[in-house]
Amino acid sequence: MVGAVLTQNTNWTNVTKAIDNLRRAELLDYSRLFRLSVDQLAEYIRPSGYYNIKAGRLHNLLEMIDSCYGGKLDRFFSDEIEQARENLLSVKGVGPETADSILLYACGQPVFVIDAYTHRVLSRHNLVEEVTDYHTMQEMMMDHLPADAQLYNEFHALFVLVAKQFCKKTKPLCDKCPLREFNL
Ligand code: SF4
Repeated sequence: MVGAVLTQNTNWTNVTKAIDNLRRAELLDYSRLFRLSVDQLAEYIRPSGYYNIKAGRLHNLLEMIDSCYGGKLDRFFSDEIEQARENLLSVKGVGPETADSILLYACGQPVFVIDAYTHRVLSRHNLVEEVTDYHTMQEMMMDHLPADAQLYNEFHALFVLVAKQFCKKTKPLCDKCPLREFNL
């Protein structure tokens, strides 16, 4: 959950440095993290960039767990998908991608996560419009795949990998890409 917030607008290497700071201080624990002030939290997560904003968002998320689930993570993890998503989206600073990342990776729910990489690959293969929205892309993927969290997890990782290695923003390397035979 911490990672899903910290990864906004930065790369995962910076996120792991911030998470390592929290781990070393034994703060990767709901109650301990919630007891920190936003300023204290910001210092620990400084390597993730935009640390003041992210500390506020993280604190908002912890507050939601407190008010909706009595501060019990297991109650949150076992909530219905739609209710949990609604609660996540009510948190200031948590959008659909962050909410769905938490649902998939933390809660283990079968929710397909869409990001800029997914959009790039799907739109270049004419599977979605270039100008589209998060929900349309997610629906398209979930309509064509069985509801399986492990599968969605793997799919998302592969979208990221193929986009980083081949489907680059300006010059896609289609001739070397494993998806070239699906190019329309
Ligand atoms: S073949 Fe690969 S690089 Fe080319 S558009 Fe498709 S995903 Fe991108």
